[in-house]
Amino acid sequence: ELVPVEGQPSLGPGRAASLIVFHDVSGLKRAESLRSDFVANVSHELKTPLATLIGFLETLKGPARNDEQARARFIDIMLAEAQRMSRIVADLLSLSRIELNEFQPPEGRANLKRIAGSVIDGLGLKAKERGIVLRLSAPDSVPDIPGDADELTQVLQNLVDNALKYSRDQALVTVELSLITEPALLRLNLPQQRGAPAAIALSVRDQGPGIAREHIPRLTERFYRVDNARSREMGGTGLGLAIVKHIINRHRGRLEIQSVLGQGSVFTIYLPMDSLPAAPAPVAS
Ligand code: ADP
Repeated sequence: ELVPVEGQPSLGPGRAASLIVFHDVSGLKRAESLRSDFVANVSHELKTPLATLIGFLETLKGPARNDEQARARFIDIMLAEAQRMSRIVADLLSLSRIELNEFQPPEGRANLKRIAGSVIDGLGLKAKERGIVLRLSAPDSVPDIPGDADELTQVLQNLVDNALKYSRDQALVTVELSLITEPALLRLNLPQQRGAPAAIALSVRDQGPGIAREHIPRLTERFYRVDNARSREMGGTGLGLAIVKHIINRHRGRLEIQSVLGQGSVFTIYLPMDSLPAAPAPVAS
């Protein structure tokens, strides 16, 4: 869609046609409409737990005032709703911070094996409570990569947390790290250096419900959920995979999702091992 830039004089007869300046506002309008969709989504997401909170508080003030049992139960529900709102706000803040830096390469170096180990330790108890076996498989030595350790921790935390959330009790969740060499990289369109392993693949595999094919491309959209009720019940914010996508973009990596309904899902991230090799120095003549 092309519209004239505001403030441009209208062309009278005899004016040079080269004065016309057109400005493409379709991108701008799209961004505006995305923004207002987003505000509408956030408002909706916060409205639901708030309405629950208000409802229970009113009941506690009125009919349930002297009902000790109801009080204890309502307080638990209210606490869970308030915690969910707090998670949504924390995820939104995190998303906006990441988006701000998305086009700046990350500073520092990170070791994915160490990160995977600490995420698994952190979620170990949660897994154990449900009899889920959480397993790490990695080569003895995994080199550091250029990356922000906090952000990459957040990626893995979200992926493993999802795998646990959507698994049934007693299931198996595996985190697997592997080094990727050149031929595979061509397919992945990642920067490569001769000889050395050029990227690290990290996959999180579960035996959960799986995800139907048509949903897969949309999973990284904010607030997109395959099953709204299930995600909410599990305490999800619908923002985890959006955060994962932005962090991986910033690290110039890729996210691949494979899933078979009724069998499980594999979320794999590929991260380049090194910054793009410098352009070769000109040969002295
Ligand atoms: P949520 O907080 O709802 O888990 P995410 O952004 O992390 O939000 O994930 C988006 C949706 O993708 C989830 O609501 C769920 O429907 C689906 N999903 C994510 N991970 C898995 C998984 N391991 N198995 C099945 N479905 C998943």
